[in-house]
Amino acid sequence: MASSYNPFRGMMSRDIGIDLGTANTLVMVRDQGIVINEPSVVAIDRKSRRVLAIGSEAKEMVGRTPANIVAIRPLRDGVISDFDITQKMLEYFIRKANDRTRLAGKPRVVVGIPSGVTEVEKRAVRDASIAAGAREAFLIEEPMAAAIGAGLPVTESMGSMVVDIGGGTTEVAVIALGGIVVSNSIRIAGDEMDEGIIQYARQKYNLFIGERMAETVKMAIGSAYPLDREETRVLRGRNLITGLPQQVEVSSVEIREALSGPVNAIVEVVRDTLDDTPPEPIADLLEHGIALAGGGALLRGLAQRLADETKMHVYVADDPLACVAKGAGAVLENLDAYAKVLASTQRASIGR
Ligand code: ADP
Ligand code: MG
Repeated sequence: MASSYNPFRGMMSRDIGIDLGTANTLVMVRDQGIVINEPSVVAIDRKSRRVLAIGSEAKEMVGRTPANIVAIRPLRDGVISDFDITQKMLEYFIRKANDRTRLAGKPRVVVGIPSGVTEVEKRAVRDASIAAGAREAFLIEEPMAAAIGAGLPVTESMGSMVVDIGGGTTEVAVIALGGIVVSNSIRIAGDEMDEGIIQYARQKYNLFIGERMAETVKMAIGSAYPLDREETRVLRGRNLITGLPQQVEVSSVEIREALSGPVNAIVEVVRDTLDDTPPEPIADLLEHGIALAGGGALLRGLAQRLADETKMHVYVADDPLACVAKGAGAVLENLDAYAKVLASTQRASIGR
């Protein structure tokens, strides 16, 4: 058996926190901050299933790929739809972080995973981390990591609520004493908002637009609450009747209407979670408010809309896209204090 003696053990710089998101993967290295921030996309050859590109390079191919290349988002729905591809993506990001930061030896890794994933999927993520060279792999549920990254006092008895609106899923959790008291997850988030804009353009203008166009307009003028100054943008696509390229100017009022389905669903899941929350944590929430994390938190007016609907103080966490990665990083820095919040652990049995 290999000796368990490791001269680098405990060396700080080799610990990595990963947010394996449905839309974006972020890798955080202790003392260095976020070293990787790329889309969770893998481009593969349809026939051979060979991986052609991962991350930013692969996202560039979405919607532009020749027929033989498909761009896959293996976590799109908050579940791992393709083990092999997820594994390759995770390995790629861990290796890249390792190369970039010239970490000596094997890192310890904390990976944030969607809270709906099954035991089998958890194992796949742990195995992939070990295969990618991790010495130990810890998993943490994303809402927990998001809450820690948002600066909420998760280990205290006081109740906190975080709403993490990503690409594929919205997760709502009330947390106290290092555990999740109540949680809900829906497969409606940023992607569904993009889809709402695509449907709207089709129905109202017979205009067929791509996902990237929809996302760009959402980020530019999307909202969940009337804006002080409404704006317009141009949607470019193809007319479904003539088949010709077409552009249409749309207003932020129209885009708000296009987003109303998914936005209402997010409001509903937050209200349902509040309904299920016991009175003591509710009292804490009334005092301290609700934190929003994830890219969807950046939708203009969403915090205000949620505040209106819940009669609570709702605020966007600092750097909402980085909350899960920062939370995973914080856990690494203090594994003992956060032992309770981890979903599971695996050590590499050889090569330590
Ligand atoms: P995940 O954790 O699922 O990978 P992220 O937290 O990275 O997701 O958020 C990605 C989602 O956030 C995407 O749907 C993206 O379009 C959306 N998003 C990013 N910035 C904005 C913005 N300014 N306004 C609205 N949505 C945004
Ligand atoms: Mg996320």
